[in-house]
Amino acid sequence: MTSPAEILSNPRPAWLDQEDVNMFEHAVRGFAEKELVPHLERWEKEGVVDREVWNKAGEAGILCPSCPEEYGGAGGDWRHDYVFHMALAEAGTDAWGSSLHNSIVAPYVWHYGSDEQKRRVLPKMLSGEYVGAIAMTEPGAGSDLQGVKTTAVRDGNGWRINGAKTFITNGGTANLIVVVAKTDPKAGAKGTSLFVIETDGLDGFRRGRNLDKVGLKGQDTAELFFDDMFVPADALLGGEEGRGFIQLMEQLPQERLQIAVQGVGMMKRALADTIAYVKERKAFGKAVIEFQNTQFKLAELKTKATVAEVFVQHCSDLLIQGKLDAATASMAKYWVTDIQCELIDECVQLHGGYGFMNEYAIARMWRDARVQRIYGGTNEIMKLLIARTL
Ligand SMILES: Cc1cc2nc3c(=O)[nH]c(=O)nc-3n(C[C@H](O)[C@H](O)[C@H](O)COP(=O)(O)OP(=O)(O)OC[C@H]3O[C@@H](n4cnc5c(N)ncnc54)[C@H](O)[C@@H]3O)c2cc1C
Repeated sequence: MTSPAEILSNPRPAWLDQEDVNMFEHAVRGFAEKELVPHLERWEKEGVVDREVWNKAGEAGILCPSCPEEYGGAGGDWRHDYVFHMALAEAGTDAWGSSLHNSIVAPYVWHYGSDEQKRRVLPKMLSGEYVGAIAMTEPGAGSDLQGVKTTAVRDGNGWRINGAKTFITNGGTANLIVVVAKTDPKAGAKGTSLFVIETDGLDGFRRGRNLDKVGLKGQDTAELFFDDMFVPADALLGGEEGRGFIQLMEQLPQERLQIAVQGVGMMKRALADTIAYVKERKAFGKAVIEFQNTQFKLAELKTKATVAEVFVQHCSDLLIQGKLDAATASMAKYWVTDIQCELIDECVQLHGGYGFMNEYAIARMWRDARVQRIYGGTNEIMKLLIARTL
């Protein structure tokens, strides 16, 4: 079988051609093969990955590759994040919420945290002692983040936080959570702040159930509750109130591009898997690949995946140069994930009845793909952002 990494014919882009990036990618692929792939089925059943995987990943040096060197990191950039997301998606390890930890949660700390916060938190995120999560969504507010009801009120030398969050990736495990809360509920977006909360032994912090999802079953997605939860003053990210919305808006393009990169990796895996399958499977005395319909379908799908990869590479190049705007990142997120769902659905079709059986990888890919159009901002919200530039 041709590997997912080799299934498209796109050349490796020049911006990715760096020795340290290649070495990092090699380490990530090795880690996936040894520490992740053998356990995926068990994690699906258990609804969570083994906690020690985070520590092993820390030891292997693959957590938070872009963390600045002064805080113990390797001082990488989006190139390292890109190969991380692509390698894991190609390997089918979608259950492990490390992409969020590496490229979404930790960057809030190093971009906006105080020096003290960075020194305290980042080494633990690098080692896997801390597992990161970001808690924006609430039962009553998802797309409309301005509708967040969680409040943070000053209380002596700290903050008292009350509220509930839902659908939080790594929510069952995370002990370092970036929380979106209102510090001035009357001030709209300007009254929103981010808090970096270390939850070990924290009074008033409670996790809800591990949510029963259609896909990504090995990922612990949970509700979180804050009941009069007291956090010290310096849990406020960057020490400045009312900056939360701006901080979110600045970081969301990277989160959206990450989802698109993962989408491309998953498409490559689905294509590699399906091409191998139709070469093996016989109907009417010949291999299914010999039907012209199969060839035309796969030709279309390979073309779409190729275009998707070129576009996420273009966006990645922009991001590295600091030029990726919200609308272009939204294009990548919406278009790639729509194409991903279409492509994987066609791949299920080419598998026939076996494509609907959970023991076939394509069935899991089909279940896992659907949420890509929903989280990280729904694809409708992506179109709103693009439409603002018309
Ligand atoms: C598996 C999973 C993991 C997640 N992980 C996280 C996480 O780690 N952290 C976190 O904070 N959140 C997380 N989420 C939440 C996710 O980001 C939200 O579900 C998503 O933003 C949509 O919000 P909602 O579910 O409240 O839908 P709603 O906002 O209620 O939307 C319902 C429908 O209305 C549409 N809609 C809403 N507003 C508009 C509009 N203005 N114009 C047109 N259509 C509109 C939406 O597109 C959607 O189709 C996760 C969700 C899932 C399912």
